[in-house]
Amino acid sequence: MEHYDIAIIGGSSAGLAAAQTSGRSVRRTIVFDTQEPRNKPAAHAHNFFTRDGMPPAELLAIAREEIKTYPSVAISYDKVINASKQKDHFLLETASGTQVTARGIILATGVKDILPPIEGAKELWGSRIVHCPYCHGWEIKDTPVALIASGEAAYEMAILIYHLNKDLTILTNGGEALLADINSKGITIIDTPIEKIAAAGEGIVITFTNGTAISKTAAYMKVESLAFNSALAVQLGCELTEAGSVKVDEYYQTTIPGVWAAGDLSHPGLHQISIAAAGGHLAAVMCSKQLNREDFERSE
Ligand SMILES: Cc1cc2nc3c(=O)[nH]c(=O)nc-3n(C[C@H](O)[C@H](O)[C@H](O)COP(=O)(O)OP(=O)(O)OC[C@H]3O[C@@H](n4cnc5c(N)ncnc54)[C@H](O)[C@@H]3O)c2cc1C
Repeated sequence: MEHYDIAIIGGSSAGLAAAQTSGRSVRRTIVFDTQEPRNKPAAHAHNFFTRDGMPPAELLAIAREEIKTYPSVAISYDKVINASKQKDHFLLETASGTQVTARGIILATGVKDILPPIEGAKELWGSRIVHCPYCHGWEIKDTPVALIASGEAAYEMAILIYHLNKDLTILTNGGEALLADINSKGITIIDTPIEKIAAAGEGIVITFTNGTAISKTAAYMKVESLAFNSALAVQLGCELTEAGSVKVDEYYQTTIPGVWAAGDLSHPGLHQISIAAAGGHLAAVMCSKQLNREDFERSE
C-alpha cells in the first residue's frame, strides 16, 4: 500500500490548484480524478485571468503539465469510492481496488447539474443553453435570448441577463409565476410548458406543448437542482450545509480535522473556476502547513 502526505480527490480546477501547491511544498501527493469536470460540455471557459476563452480541457491539460515540475505529485485516473479515518491517517479505496493512506485529505469532487427533463436540454447544455451570464453572456449579448426559469429565481436571473439582452423572453415552463411585475421592461413571459429544444442554424427553436414555437440565439436555463458530490465527505463525517455543500471555514477546513474541501463542493453557489482554484490553493497551504507543524514538533 502506498502512503502519501496529501490525497486530493478530484483533479479539476480546485484539485489541480491544490496539487500544484502541495508539490511546491514538497509533499508526497496523490490526485485521484475521474475526468468529469462540471464545465466539460462548454467549448470555452471564460473569466479566468490570462486564459479567457480557452477550452476547459486545454486549461486542465496545462495545469497537469505544470504539475510535472513537481516529482512528489502523482495523478491517478481512478475513482475513490471509500474514505475512512484510521488512528493517525486516512484510508482511501478506489474503484479499481487500490488502497492508499494519507495524512491529510483535500476533497475537490465538485457538483453535478441536474437539468429539467426537457427534450434536447442535455444535448445543448453548455453550448446553446447556458447557465451563467458571467461565464457565457458576452458571446450572446444584444441578441434575442430566452430564460428558462420560474418564480424568484427567474426574477433574479432576469436582472443579470437584461443588462446584456433587452430582447428577453422568460419561459416558466409551467412552473411558479413571477411575483414581480417586469412587463414594463418589455420582457415577454410565456408560461406554457416546453416540449423540446433543438438546434437550428446558429440558434435554437423552442417548441411548446401547445404546438407553438419560438426561435432564439440561445437560452439561459436554471438547473432543477445541484447534486453536490459529497458522498466521501459524508463517509468521513464532514458536516454539510443546508444546500448540501460541505461546510468549511474561511481556510477551507471541514468540520473533520485533517480534511479540507475546496471548489464547487465547498460553497452552496459561488461556483467559478477562479474561485475553485483559489480554494484549492488555500486548502493545500493549510494542509501542508499542518503537516509541517506536526513534523517540526515531532523531530528533535
Ligand atoms: C456548462 C458550464 C460552463 C461553465 N463555464 C464556466 C466558465 O466559463 N467560467 C467559470 O469560471 N466557470 C464556469 N463554470 C463553473 C465551473 O465549471 C466550476 O466552477 C468549476 O469546474 C469547479 O471546479 P471544481 O474543481 O470544484 O469541480 P469540477 O470541475 O466539477 O471537478 C471535479 C472533479 O472531481 C472528479 N471526481 C468527482 N468525484 C470523484 C471521485 N470519487 N474520485 C475521483 N475523482 C472524482 C470529477 O471527475 C471532476 O474531474 C461552468 C459550469 C458549467 C456547468
